[in-house]
Amino acid sequence: MAGVIRDPFGRSLDYVRISVTDRCNFRCRYCMPAEGVAWIPHERIMTYEDILFLCEVLTGLGVRRVRFTGGEPFVRKGFVPFLAEVRNRFPHLAMAVTTNGSFLEAWADRLPALGLDSVNVSLDTLDPSKFTAMTAMGGIDQVLRGIDAVLAAGSVPVKLNTVVVRSVNAAEIEDLVLFAGRKGVLLRFIEFMPLDGQVWSREEYVPAEEIRGRLPAPDAWLPDEAPTQGPNGPARYYVHERTGQRVGIISAVSDHFCGRCNRLRVTATGEIRSCLFRDDSVPIMEALRMRDASALQALILAAAAAKPREGGTGLPKETDSPGYRHMSRIGG
Ligand code: SAM
Ligand code: SF4
Repeated sequence: MAGVIRDPFGRSLDYVRISVTDRCNFRCRYCMPAEGVAWIPHERIMTYEDILFLCEVLTGLGVRRVRFTGGEPFVRKGFVPFLAEVRNRFPHLAMAVTTNGSFLEAWADRLPALGLDSVNVSLDTLDPSKFTAMTAMGGIDQVLRGIDAVLAAGSVPVKLNTVVVRSVNAAEIEDLVLFAGRKGVLLRFIEFMPLDGQVWSREEYVPAEEIRGRLPAPDAWLPDEAPTQGPNGPARYYVHERTGQRVGIISAVSDHFCGRCNRLRVTATGEIRSCLFRDDSVPIMEALRMRDASALQALILAAAAAKPREGGTGLPKETDSPGYRHMSRIGG
């Protein structure tokens, strides 16, 4: 069995998030500026064959879990057949997808055969007009139908991700928890991360402690240490003492989880980013296109070696503004 990639601080990196596209059919206000982001030309994006080769080298280095993300992964033509090919070639690789949910209805019946660990759907509000305001173009009905279709198809656990943005959905936390409880799905709230100065603002940021205080009957939620994503997952979980419902809060800003970080990220243009909050990256496209496994291994290990102990994820100082890292290009 392959060893595990370790960084200089002893963290084992067995989880890789791979972005299959920078493109998206939404413009969520916490992710992209209202005018959108210029799309990267197709020829600079990893082909599916490139990604399959990458998976081969990653699994050879002991990576056990991949998550495909974007942009919106389902906007890329051939995404579901690609997932089927990954499953076919790597039967033991744990595989998950993060999506805005808008294409799920069309693909739901194909998902059970893929052996996915989870489909994480971003759902920030249940209010149709707020949903359209939050995503700049999306329609909530389509996403809700998609969630129901995946649940009806069975076999694939659905998780919901909600980025809390004060003026939009802070007052809706209770409703979202009740909705997730009714659907029987795990909901995770995510602190609005200051990645992109064009979209982030201090006033819109809601800290994890406040999110926790806004859960319905907050005292009924007890810390739950049982791991959901393996021991290094970034969320802190709470379980309702009476109903047993669990919710997670991902506090990337107020309580860094750097010590537990187990991941690398690969952008759609084939750059490994060892930390979401750093701009340095290791380009792997040439090694990928040459199908040079040993060069690729060396680059992956170099990226792991460059992983900082901490990403400096805290709130920017009043005088600072965050940089211009577009989450849609990194993959979240
Ligand atoms: N399009 C897919 C989606 O929306 O789920 C996948 C890509 S999206 C970049 C991945 C995740 O990043 C989503 O859960 C999204 O909510 C989250 N995200 C984007 N910008 C964020 C920000 N500034 N702070 C926290 N989470 C963010
Ligand atoms: Fe698109 Fe996902 Fe970013 Fe929303 S969060 S704009 S759906 S990539």
